[in-house]
Amino acid sequence: MECIFCKIVDGKTEGEVLLQDKYVCAFRDINPAAPSHILIVPNEHLTSIEALSPDKIKLAGRLLLAVKDVARLEGISQTGYRVITNTGADSHQEVQHLHIHVLGGAPMKHGLG
Ligand code: 5GP
Ligand code: ZN
Repeated sequence: MECIFCKIVDGKTEGEVLLQDKYVCAFRDINPAAPSHILIVPNEHLTSIEALSPDKIKLAGRLLLAVKDVARLEGISQTGYRVITNTGADSHQEVQHLHIHVLGGAPMKHGLG
């Protein structure tokens, strides 16, 4: 299957993996939109939040808690960060493997566009 994030999860591409465990993998966005721009993905290929279901509740919880871990690793826990998950066409989701963007390291523009 041609999924770039599955390849990163499987260690088949170059890329800086910040953390990986049983459920999730976190790595730097190739085109950062902030000084810290990390993507957190499930190891399992799921298209988006729409593919989550109650039987995935542990994975869903781990995805959210991994945000805190990434923020700590990046040193932005105190300064703050923004968490975004694009889902589907209207959001312009480009990679069809669920991912959480964690953005921080500098003050961001006010509001959501
Ligand atoms: P989306 O628009 O789907 O929410 O975000 C996809 C993100 O994946 C973009 O911010 C883009 O820069 C990033 N991205 C796309 N291809 C790669 C890649 O091969 N490696 C990494 N690390 N990030 C990628
Ligand atoms: Zn995938």
